[in-house]
Amino acid sequence: MFESGKPTKLSEEFVKKAAAVLEIDLAKNPAPAVVSITAAFSEGVLGFCPDPECPSNFPYLVGGRLVYRSHLAAGKHCAHCGELLEKRCPACGAPLNEGACCAACGSGYVTPALDESVDVRRYVAERQSAIRALA
Ligand SMILES: [Zn+2]
Ligand SMILES: [Zn+2]
Repeated sequence: MFESGKPTKLSEEFVKKAAAVLEIDLAKNPAPAVVSITAAFSEGVLGFCPDPECPSNFPYLVGGRLVYRSHLAAGKHCAHCGELLEKRCPACGAPLNEGACCAACGSGYVTPALDESVDVRRYVAERQSAIRALA
């Protein structure tokens, strides 16, 4: 999971268990910073850009619903567009979790600002390729 780019899936409990099996002393070898990402969410260190047009927000479809996978960032303002980062769920105020939707209330963090005439599939494909082209 770590190697596939999902380091937050490693729970602290799992890291301790793996360390015990591998005979690694975590006191001498502090756990990598990724383990504290869960803490960073609840302490409001990480935030997301609320602007759906910002390149930090990668749009995709889940069952026809437009959601945004936000690039979580530390600091006060979005490094891409300067917007004030949201540190909590805008709908219910719960601490952020990884992903595009709030685990507490289910609302998407970034609100799509499209009018109904827009072909959402095409919009997503165009935004994704434009954002990929930035990299
Ligand atoms: Zn932004
Ligand atoms: Zn919420």
